[in-house]
Amino acid sequence: MYYENDANLDFLQDKTIAVLGYGSQGHAHALNLKDSGLNVIVAQKPGGDNYKKAIEDGWEPLSVVEAVKQADLVHILLPDEVQKKIWEEDIKPNIKKEAILSFSHGFNIRFKQIIPMSNLDVIMIAPKGPGHLVRREYEEGKGVPCLIAVEQNASGRAKDFALAYARGIGGTRAGVLETTFAEETETDLFGEQVVLCGGLVELINSGFETLVTAGYQPEIAYFECLHEVKLIVDLIFEGGFGRMNYSISDTAEYGEYLSGKRIINDATRKEMKKVLADIQSGKFADDWLKENKAGRLSFAESRREISDRLIEKVGAKLRSQMTWIKK
Ligand code: NDP
Ligand code: MG
Repeated sequence: MYYENDANLDFLQDKTIAVLGYGSQGHAHALNLKDSGLNVIVAQKPGGDNYKKAIEDGWEPLSVVEAVKQADLVHILLPDEVQKKIWEEDIKPNIKKEAILSFSHGFNIRFKQIIPMSNLDVIMIAPKGPGHLVRREYEEGKGVPCLIAVEQNASGRAKDFALAYARGIGGTRAGVLETTFAEETETDLFGEQVVLCGGLVELINSGFETLVTAGYQPEIAYFECLHEVKLIVDLIFEGGFGRMNYSISDTAEYGEYLSGKRIINDATRKEMKKVLADIQSGKFADDWLKENKAGRLSFAESRREISDRLIEKVGAKLRSQMTWIKK
């Protein structure tokens, strides 16, 4: 694990850093790097809320082409599915010969959507948290843990640059681990699909529907299967399963041992391995890129299906009464 003393901001002191994209991660990186005393420029296309926000935050947003021409370090914080096109059209023809090309997710390198010239350093600094927390934690003197990786080390200094960048956004205050583009990409996709997003949403929803179908009140099912998830996860986050088990009743703990393995069983684990295999083989990446080319019809359909679920309607009503959530 790397901390503040392992990272030296001097490696980036004389460089112009272009942050491409002013979205969730982009605004946080740009502001944190600037507050760390580094020389930052921002590229953001006009027209939307993120452009307005960039202006409000005091930037003079450039086009990608303009920013890349000036930059010694180009950090791409555009959506993963548009990076290839912007790389081909705007970045590749304009990037300085010995620049540093930098990412916060390995998708486009791991799945060969972007194939950088060998004279470039290629690094990753990936905060393990949403962009808005990357900013908030930094402002509070804290930080979000980061992963760093080096894919190409043309300068011989690539890792120093990655560590310096991680320090600039506050990552070394929390801890920085070294990984590879492949490991970061594959574990990130697996985590979000199997546990954090895909698995959790369907687990919550299936529990909720089972109770409601059996005739229980939807409001009670919501509290049991969704609201309490956060309370339980907070305990696990603070002290592992042990702390949660210490805090819940022995009845709950006995039920956990008895029924947990019936819900997540060999069939589930077999499917987890298949999901991982589809990520490793590039099948998932192919499907996602094809879905984008085809206009995201099934993506939009899934969004609609989820928002039509009873749990979303019940939840919206209940949360509107919980004034502390709005704050
Ligand atoms: P966002 O969607 O929040 O922001 C993307 C930015 O790029 C927006 O400012 C957007 O502008 C701009 N943009 C979109 N399309 C184009 C285009 N065609 N040309 C120029 N600019 C464009 O992305 P994230 O911050 O979520 O993700 C950025 C990177 O960070 C990704 O690689 C992601 O995997 C990675 N990452 C994200 C995390 C997160 O918490 N969100 C966590 C860790 C890594 P506009 O709004 O006007 O469309
Ligand atoms: Mg992730």
